[in-house]
Amino acid sequence: MIRFENVTKRYDDGTTAVDSLSFEVAEGELVTLVGPSGCGKTTTMKMVNRLIEPTEGRVYLDGEDISAIDPVRLRRRIGYVIQQVGLFPHRTVLENTATVPHLLGWKRAKARERAAELLDLVGLDPSVHGARYPEQLSGGQRQRVGVARALAADPPVLLMDEPFGAVDPVVREHLQNEFLGLQERVRKTILFVTHDIEEAVRLGDRIAVYGQGRIEQFDSPARVLGAPATPYVADFVGADRGLKRLSVTPVEEADLDRPPVVRPGEPLRDAVARIAGEGTRWAVVLDEEDRPLGWLPAGTEPAPSLGKDATVREGLRPMDARLPLGAPLRQALAAMLQHDAGWIAVVDDERSGRYLGALTPGRLHEALRRSIGADAADLPRAEVALETVADAAPPAP
Ligand code: ADP
Ligand code: MG
Repeated sequence: MIRFENVTKRYDDGTTAVDSLSFEVAEGELVTLVGPSGCGKTTTMKMVNRLIEPTEGRVYLDGEDISAIDPVRLRRRIGYVIQQVGLFPHRTVLENTATVPHLLGWKRAKARERAAELLDLVGLDPSVHGARYPEQLSGGQRQRVGVARALAADPPVLLMDEPFGAVDPVVREHLQNEFLGLQERVRKTILFVTHDIEEAVRLGDRIAVYGQGRIEQFDSPARVLGAPATPYVADFVGADRGLKRLSVTPVEEADLDRPPVVRPGEPLRDAVARIAGEGTRWAVVLDEEDRPLGWLPAGTEPAPSLGKDATVREGLRPMDARLPLGAPLRQALAAMLQHDAGWIAVVDDERSGRYLGALTPGRLHEALRRSIGADAADLPRAEVALETVADAAPPAP
């Protein structure tokens, strides 16, 4: 969809901002460009919508050499979101969002209808926020208006230059998640610039790691973290990349423990005997629909008043932490810490919530090792060993 072919940009003062760059972004793909300040990310991006012309080389959009496309027409096919957002201060949020449809000559009512739709899509209520002026919004809300405006003419391509750079970390994480949900629905081809490796890893289908004016590695987040192509990339992704890797490694079925399963209505004595028979320290308690309720420790004694009439229900320890299969390990670790739990119930999906197995800190650790091992076979052993979460994991039940 976007292709760079040996593109070089030298500014008039002799600065080579981008040096013989070649890469390709597939349709519907979200590629993050990440690197330190001044490495040429913005220059790369502005050569896609012809705000900057290359000194050498060619840029193609959908197979067409963009130097042959009229810049104004070209930009209609490309949404552009920047950190400063650039909203018109004296126009309402709705009018700001409708800017491009207006320029394209849409009827006023249709343009406003489209703008309202888009505000809704980015999580703003058009009836509440539509009539406000930009200065009456928070930074995060302004950023959302920027995204809505860029999407207004439904361009197939979006360029986003550090769009979340100016909002605080909590809001940023929220915007990132929303943005991922949005991208799942709209499937644009996106170039997303950031200087933050965490953001690049979280959002990108692939990541281009920039050194000075060149791409040092263009790869999946897992490969960039697990098998950095150069010492520069290894340095840039940092020594804590094992932790970052938690964000990109999903919980898989093979990672799960299968402790014995007991039901709340079962006699406690039978359940405890079964746990002893299997030699485990606990059992999972599931309801009739196989949804997890909690756990039962080995050797649970019935209350004297109940004696042999006691059921599992009486010994049940509730446990709320659950996670859908495929969720990142990072979410699992966060849930363990938040619930102070020694295990997490992994379910098929959030809606039906049917139990599949238990994820323990030990299993989480193994999953992380497997993930690192899968594409870092050539890393020195000592380095791999550093990348464990053993120290961060809470104790097993
Ligand atoms: P990034 O977005 O990665 O921070 P830029 O693409 O903005 O980097 O800049 C890359 C290099 O080009 C930097 O050294 C910067 O100073 C230089 N540069 C950017 N714009 C101009 C310009 N208009 N004239 C001269 N040098 C520029
Ligand atoms: Mg920049």
